[in-house]
Amino acid sequence: MKVPLLDLKAQHAAIRAQVLAAVAETLDSQVCIGGPKVAELEREIAAISGCKYAVGVSSGTDALLCSMMALGLGPGDEAITTPFTFFATAGSIARTGATPVFVDIDPRTFNIDPELIERAITPRTKAIVPVHLFGQMCDMDPIMRIANRHGLAVIEDAAQSITATYKGRKAGSIGAAGCFSFYPSKNLGAAGDGGMVVTNDAALYERMMALRNHGSESKYHHVYIGGNFRLDPIQAAILLVKLPHLDSWSERRRRNAAVYDRAFAGTDIRAPFVMPECVSIYNQYVIRTPERDKLAEELRRQDIGCEIYYPLCLPLQPCFAHLGYKAGTLAEAERATAEVLALPIYPELGAEEQQSVIRATLAGRGQLQLREEG
Ligand SMILES: *Cc1c(COP(=O)(O)O)cnc(C)c1O
Repeated sequence: MKVPLLDLKAQHAAIRAQVLAAVAETLDSQVCIGGPKVAELEREIAAISGCKYAVGVSSGTDALLCSMMALGLGPGDEAITTPFTFFATAGSIARTGATPVFVDIDPRTFNIDPELIERAITPRTKAIVPVHLFGQMCDMDPIMRIANRHGLAVIEDAAQSITATYKGRKAGSIGAAGCFSFYPSKNLGAAGDGGMVVTNDAALYERMMALRNHGSESKYHHVYIGGNFRLDPIQAAILLVKLPHLDSWSERRRRNAAVYDRAFAGTDIRAPFVMPECVSIYNQYVIRTPERDKLAEELRRQDIGCEIYYPLCLPLQPCFAHLGYKAGTLAEAERATAEVLALPIYPELGAEEQQSVIRATLAGRGQLQLREEG
């Protein structure tokens, strides 16, 4: 049975009429920049994130860049982050002129290991950028303790974890700023690019509102050098239609995850570990397996969607060669790049489809027999 990694058409079919109506309404208003849809989405996202303020921006990448610029990150500064994330995290640090400093991950959660952060701090360190990977938040208490002790800003990259919680607190609400992405494959996805920054800091909010609009607080007067980081109102209108479904979509992802967890228990396939302090939104369901490439090839041969997030650590990317990281120094992150495989987890995944993913995965590992006997 053919099973895609993600089925956006299934989601769209369920809400098509409302989406088209919202797009038509926005077009008919001819409010093409900013306006009520963007403001309404900002209020809603701030509310569901437990934050006072939200700034709609053009992408998750621009959410990172805008918040880093607002916090004054720049040349001569260092920002500590994880080597095992999407490129935008470290790419945005570098675009401010600051230097990304990579700290290894906790192999159980794939998130930055708080125990290793302190020894990476230098007099130039200005920020920590934890990434809540695959839908699960980082262990934020120790990260905040270290940040407060050293006077560092924390920018949460919550692109994959909108509404996920840690000790009941929402992703994006713990650090100085939280960054979301509305890239179509995220749990709350637009029909194109979009993003948002949330914060409880009024001054930071004002700076980001100016920065997203070329650093201007009043027309044609520029306090800062910003950019065009504005969120498209058509995307905001579509996101407002999708937002009421977000919790039930995430709940279905969690139910699918539980089915996989049971199926892989007792095999040599390691299901994702979720800390007892966390509720994951499972943006991805990522297993660890020996001989990962062989399994991925077998699944693809059977038309089962799977993907490797991520095949190469950021410090080993050609564009960061000048930072001088050598293979082997971030051992857990590198081990993860060789063992991880994301399986279909999207909310509309049917029970039969999921059973074919499970059968193919267990058979690909030669563990099918084992399960049927056990
Ligand atoms: C998707 C993502 C981003 C970037 O978001 P875009 O909207 O694609 O710019 C940043 N960080 C992480 C961890 C992501 O997954």
